[in-house]
Amino acid sequence: MKILRFFLFFLILPLLLGAKMENVNSNFQKIKIFNVLTNKVEDVNKIYKTDADWKKILTPEQYRVTRLKGTEQPFLTQCPIPPKGESGIYQCVGCKTDLFRYENKFESQTGWPSFWQPVSELNIRIIPDNTLGMKRSEILCARCEAHLGHVFNDGPLPSGKRYCINVVALQLVRVISQEQLLHKEIAVFGAGCFWGAEAVFCRIKGVLNTTVGFMGGSLKNPTYKDVCTDKTGHVEVVRVEYDPQIVSYDDLLNVFWDNHDPTTFNRQGPDFGSQYRSVIFYYTLEQEKTARQSKARLENFKKPIVTQIVAAGEFYPAEEYHQHYFEKQGIKPTCRLK
Ligand SMILES: [Zn+2]
Repeated sequence: MKILRFFLFFLILPLLLGAKMENVNSNFQKIKIFNVLTNKVEDVNKIYKTDADWKKILTPEQYRVTRLKGTEQPFLTQCPIPPKGESGIYQCVGCKTDLFRYENKFESQTGWPSFWQPVSELNIRIIPDNTLGMKRSEILCARCEAHLGHVFNDGPLPSGKRYCINVVALQLVRVISQEQLLHKEIAVFGAGCFWGAEAVFCRIKGVLNTTVGFMGGSLKNPTYKDVCTDKTGHVEVVRVEYDPQIVSYDDLLNVFWDNHDPTTFNRQGPDFGSQYRSVIFYYTLEQEKTARQSKARLENFKKPIVTQIVAAGEFYPAEEYHQHYFEKQGIKPTCRLK
């Protein structure tokens, strides 16, 4: 009898271990999620909690809707929106996964917030829902499987879809600047008179916006007149906002080198003074490294390069009449936000 029990134990052991392993694996299942602020697809663990644990972090109504597939009463709960001029992301109330952008919200008159697309197909899961005698498509959070709402094919173009979501399944995260959303980066160059520098950079594909101003001096809020005294230490610069997915920092550096003389100290052609010095102001260590490498590649230049590579300081925009100066004079093509 003992021997039989012994054999039985070894027969069952692998089954027990297998079940245990499967359980562990499902707890750590990795999925890909798009993160709006980093603009990257990231590997994350799926989230599993017991009902008791969900109840600890959700209100009773959030729990009823997201975990028990409930539907909130329409028009009852006001959907939060970001303050004017700001942007926002609606995240899953259960796991903070980015779900919808405020920009993709539209008024559907249904009493539930409606969106025409999610931030990414990766972040939601659509499953058939045949309850209540209807054939519908249910939307779940891809990470924590929270019930969010349903998707219908009567939305506006371009998708034609209406993602109809329960307010209580969402939490709004304000995005202070469009830069965070657009994945915009900033470069600042001093390449002589800023009128000409701006006219060059604003024509580059991938450059979203340019502003002329001053950087690198000691006086706060300098005017053009202050800078022209040659005593403030400021440089005339062009601040370039660009999309690094279209134009790289290295490409912008090539434009910088090609469009001024980096070998003349405090001078560009007829313009003379410290405000005309050749400078690259970097915002990140990556930019600094790229700038130094780019400069090193020009070592065979006919004369030594005097361009400074320094950390960016405060940027002071120049007076309005200096902005897009050549464009205003009808001299150069325009530069517009894409
Ligand atoms: Zn979730």
